[in-house]
Amino acid sequence: DKIVMQTEDLKVSFPVRRAGHSTTVQAVRGVDITLRAGETLGLVGESGSGKSTLARALMRLIPSEGTVKLDGRDVSGLKPGAFRKERKRIQMVFQDPYSSLNPSLTVGASIAEPLKVHTKLSAAERAERISEVLALVGLNADYADRYPDEFSGGQRQRVAIARAIVLNPEILVCDEAVSALDVSTQNQVINLLEELRDKIGLSYLFISHDLAVVRHISDYVAVMYLGEIVEEGPVDRIFGAAAHPYTQVLLNAVPVPDPVAQRATTKLLLRGDIPDPTNPPSGCAFHQRCPFAMEICAQKAPPKVEIPGGGVAKCHLHTSGPVLAGRAISSLT
Ligand code: SF4
Ligand code: MG
Repeated sequence: DKIVMQTEDLKVSFPVRRAGHSTTVQAVRGVDITLRAGETLGLVGESGSGKSTLARALMRLIPSEGTVKLDGRDVSGLKPGAFRKERKRIQMVFQDPYSSLNPSLTVGASIAEPLKVHTKLSAAERAERISEVLALVGLNADYADRYPDEFSGGQRQRVAIARAIVLNPEILVCDEAVSALDVSTQNQVINLLEELRDKIGLSYLFISHDLAVVRHISDYVAVMYLGEIVEEGPVDRIFGAAAHPYTQVLLNAVPVPDPVAQRATTKLLLRGDIPDPTNPPSGCAFHQRCPFAMEICAQKAPPKVEIPGGGVAKCHLHTSGPVLAGRAISSLT
């Protein structure tokens, strides 16, 4: 399928002050991701792994190094002003709808804003488009005259989605877009996103710490750790045969509904916290926390290795480990 978005060696760093002197946080450290038309790429990882920073870099909300291509076109060199034209292609939905909805504006006025900036539609044409997108997200046209605080959390998120799709983008970046909602509302909003994907041809970068939700909605999954994608692959391969120890640890943290299966799985526990991003560990950034760390892991950064069943993992177990790819880890767990 057509590639709608691709990054190559994307890096984000920013200055911080620590203990009275200035240093640099390396929040995103050389990320390659590929998003195909009509696909949902799930992005998982602990908080602090750089997921939101990556999203903001893709939206060109913060500066980055490396390449971002939209529809094959390199947009990474574009200044914010020039990128505004590309804004139509890529939009974002946040955890908190108030990030995109001004509480003092009617819903209609909020949805109209991008139309005013990016199109030459008349007021009547804008009103028509607003009714259209409200219908697409399952809301009544007369909601346009109401204010965000008259709505439930789920309805507000629908409005935020309506605003995000009003320019007919190709890509929606959803950063914890359903995380603040209760489970049944979550399901409704996820169903809506899936419906919109098919109906208007969207592709999603779906960022969430909720693995069950990611498993449900994603075609492909990327796992982020300390600013790097340490593993990626088709959703079934990731959840069925994770190749990277960090992914395995993350998956083990999800309660298994079947108590027998749960007993059969020895829990891999995550030791310690995410290391200081101003001073990432040498070699494999996960080595201090990894249950399978070997001597080489502290010394040498693991290369990307293709994993049977699809995708790649960055882990020495799959190259210089004592055992072969795939078998290595499952025999230890
Ligand atoms: Fe663990 Fe080494 Fe693999 Fe890193 S490279 S995940 S430390 S086994
Ligand atoms: Mg975040």
